Amino acid sequence: MRNEDKKKDVPSPEEFQKQLSDFMKQNFSGFSFPGFGASPGSAPQATPSEPEAKERSIDDLMEFDYRPKDVKAYLDRFVIQQEEAKKVLSVALCDHYHHVRLALEGKEAPNYAKQNIILAGPTGVGKTYLIRSVADLIGVPFVKADATKFSETGYVGSDVEDLIRELYRRSDNDIQRAQFGIVYLDEVDKIAMSQNASGSRDVSGRGVQTNLLKLMEETEVSIRSPQDVAGQIQAMMEAQRGKKSASTINTKHVLFIVSGAFDGLEPIIRRRMSETTIGFATSRNDQLTSDDVLESVQTKDLIEFGFEPEFVGRLPVRVVCKSLGVDDLFHILQTSEGSIIRQYEQDFAAYGIDILFKPDGLRRVAEIAVEEKTGARGLMTVCERVFRNFKYELPSSDVKRFEVTREVVDCPAEELKKLLADQSKKEREVASKILDEFTTRFEESHGIRIEVSEEARTYLIDLSIEGGQSMRDIWVDRFKDYQFGLKLIAQNTGVKTFEIDKAAAENPDKKLSDWVVASYKEKEAKEASENASEESPSE
Ligand code: ADP
Repeated sequence: MRNEDKKKDVPSPEEFQKQLSDFMKQNFSGFSFPGFGASPGSAPQATPSEPEAKERSIDDLMEFDYRPKDVKAYLDRFVIQQEEAKKVLSVALCDHYHHVRLALEGKEAPNYAKQNIILAGPTGVGKTYLIRSVADLIGVPFVKADATKFSETGYVGSDVEDLIRELYRRSDNDIQRAQFGIVYLDEVDKIAMSQNASGSRDVSGRGVQTNLLKLMEETEVSIRSPQDVAGQIQAMMEAQRGKKSASTINTKHVLFIVSGAFDGLEPIIRRRMSETTIGFATSRNDQLTSDDVLESVQTKDLIEFGFEPEFVGRLPVRVVCKSLGVDDLFHILQTSEGSIIRQYEQDFAAYGIDILFKPDGLRRVAEIAVEEKTGARGLMTVCERVFRNFKYELPSSDVKRFEVTREVVDCPAEELKKLLADQSKKEREVASKILDEFTTRFEESHGIRIEVSEEARTYLIDLSIEGGQSMRDIWVDRFKDYQFGLKLIAQNTGVKTFEIDKAAAENPDKKLSDWVVASYKEKEAKEASENASEESPSE
């Protein structure tokens, strides 16, 4: 269906897939629809650079008809803030894949300039998350790597062509799908040719730029690495047998996105801005934030920073992702579908424990995380620290529900202790009631009342809770002879109420035998006195 055919009330593909996904989730738990609605952050914290390439065929790309607002709406579900970046990316992505569709239809515009992107911004603000989410939405393979791991020759580090081979692997060895994938190269600022301390230029960075340039333009990459000897031999054997299968990937339609923090670029831009403005404007430039300055980046700034003009020329789209403040981090926790708190909810739910995040607790996490200066990654660090011991202790306790308040985030150790103490208070109450139940049942069955002193009760409860024994086992084990013994004493003396004091609780057998001995003595004494009174009847 093409855009023009759409009626106003027909949902957009994005709305439709959300509705479908929500419906399926509600009605069929555990459902996941390939490529649709599944959170691109389903396991974002675990393997941020390893998204699942969705199973979509090339026919889906021929149907590509998203509009930038559809893409932006999808990104809004996961990525908080970065409004400008989301807009620019949505436009670039739509342009690129509309062009891909035309190419697949054989109607490619001859002089189309690919919309490769430079994404600047500090660490942990959602750069990778944006690209991975968009790759998920479109259903194309996605590869992320650090530019620093490549060397010019590939002998020392990896070869940039490995990126394309990785796309192929991620498309389940489907050459066609690999040809429309997205390559995301982080830390690209590190391969800018900078003047190093000795004044000589860093040549290897330049070599990597040149190699990347070839990929960004158009080249054929063999699906087998030159280092893959076994693969090479197999290819030769297949060729000898007359088997001819496609073995190269064309990079013409692979989308390249490069990113980095670009430290050192800001002063270059500021200098250029102050040179080109005068007076009032200059003082206004001084008030601009780093993010604002980066947004004004021009090609010549990037060249001065150390990129080859041809390299920069192949990256026409420039986007800045801004740093995140406390409010942003709070919103990420509270509203992003990929929020880390979902992961904690799941982790605790696996033990049947409900974790409830209170807004003041979330805000405190955000406040501490912002100090880490690692963007949203700080949230993971803080949560890991806060919940480490909760995750260790609670699964083996009887706690089934707990709230994450500001106090919990500030003093996790104390709050955990309190939670467990409250729990053990409840447990003690239960143990005490069980003890009462045994004495009641004893009285009902044998007509003999056992009273347990407070000290003895405390002793027995400690034994149960700290020793991890059930009160039933303790009762049966310690007082197994009491049924017989106490009945005997009752026959001897007529006494039907006994008190278990601490000594009796500690050593029940000794106490019972003392009681039995004493009861016989009492009985004998009684009989003796009765006999004596019979022998000397009163006159
Ligand atoms: P970088 O900017 O260094 O590429 P990432 O995109 O890898 O950072 O961010 C790391 C994680 O932090 C993401 O997987 C995501 O869970 C979270 N995150 C970062 N920025 C945002 C954001 N703006 N909105 C929502 N989550 C974010």
